Amino acid sequence: MLYKRSSQLFAEAEKVIPGGVNSPVRAFKAVGGTPIFVKSAKGAYLYDEDGNRLIDYINSWGPMILGHAFEPVVRAVIEKAKLGTSFGMPTELETQIAALAVSMVPNIDKIRFVNSGTEACMSAVRLARGFTKRDKIIKFAGCYHGHSDSFLIQAGSGAITFGSPNSPGVTAGTAKDTLLARYNDLENVKALIEANINEIAAIIVEPVAGNMGCIPPNKGFLEGLRQLCTDNGILLIFDEVMTGFRLARGGVQELFNITADIVCFGKVIGGGLPVGAFAARAEIMNYLAPLGPVYQAGTLSGNPLAMAAGLAMLQSLDSDRAIFQRLEEKTAYLGAGIDRVLKANNVAFTINRIGSMISVHFDTAPVVDFQTAAKGDNETFKKFFHGLLEEGIYIAPSAYETWFITDALTYDDLDFTICAIDKVSKTF
Ligand SMILES: *Cc1c(COP(=O)(O)O)cnc(C)c1O
Repeated sequence: MLYKRSSQLFAEAEKVIPGGVNSPVRAFKAVGGTPIFVKSAKGAYLYDEDGNRLIDYINSWGPMILGHAFEPVVRAVIEKAKLGTSFGMPTELETQIAALAVSMVPNIDKIRFVNSGTEACMSAVRLARGFTKRDKIIKFAGCYHGHSDSFLIQAGSGAITFGSPNSPGVTAGTAKDTLLARYNDLENVKALIEANINEIAAIIVEPVAGNMGCIPPNKGFLEGLRQLCTDNGILLIFDEVMTGFRLARGGVQELFNITADIVCFGKVIGGGLPVGAFAARAEIMNYLAPLGPVYQAGTLSGNPLAMAAGLAMLQSLDSDRAIFQRLEEKTAYLGAGIDRVLKANNVAFTINRIGSMISVHFDTAPVVDFQTAAKGDNETFKKFFHGLLEEGIYIAPSAYETWFITDALTYDDLDFTICAIDKVSKTF
């Protein structure tokens, strides 16, 4: 395939945008080459500026769970835009999407909308600190909770890929309030709590990790976190920005029947527009301004276009109860196919999979935390990435990313992908 126009556009972009991209994960730094510039997308496919068609396994990093340019979302946005695009005043639409979200997700009474997953996580932690009157938080190495200062400590895919796990610009004062634990390691969490008695406001976790590849929680891990939080007056924050409205109608809380104290959303909840949200039971949410003392605000929060897109997306997911089962089946089919051809070609690999999330790691050891995820062979990944691209298949340009399966993918697309992986892995 030719990427002539993409290369030209990237050269132009580099002159006026740092690295030519507005989010580092879009760069091809880890795999070499230049990013592909997209012109349009529909269903399971991307169409780039050179006229190539690519089967998309990134799907805007998660939001497009029903495929690109999904009709009900597009229609809702167009209709709303005609009525004005922002008011800075309340609209009925905000209550509609809030009520629907609260009805779909277990254990939440109220939800507040923001503009990104980053904002959701940042605000959730501030709320937890205000509510508990404590300063410290525990996060897990390899988990990503957006790019706000408190979280940029071993922060998963983007930060790892670009070689700055602990970003300059985060002050020592901020960093000292973030305690770092190993994913899937309860003993480690217990030790941190014991060393910081009555100081920890919250444990924030990706209940299924998706930013160091896909890493499901070990049996008992989330249950253990729940118990430790309850026993020690700590709030448990589930960062479901990736998993919310994806792994189940009610997210991981529903999937594993575990209750978090605060839940963060993003990605799917905005249907492809910039939306994040955080939610909790009323007792906690009432701590927020204007009811309570914890301040949080946003000029464009609850923006009508974003809310229209989000509402259309949630309604579609809510009205099709078979969707999550269907996605899981497609992902299982793809996983089994990849497993078959990589084995046949004697490739060292591990596949992790849950619901519509799947990742392929080029190492045979089980991938259960950041350390084991980091062992994957990046040289093999580079060949894999560029080989698939040549076959018209777009996966994330980093070995630390999850693939997202959408409802728009057909079994023909999956078969095509499995054949391409067979072909490419013969060249390793
Ligand atoms: C993507 C992501 C975020 C950040 O969301 P943005 O909308 O990119 O700010 C936070 N947490 C998790 C788990 C994510 O996957």
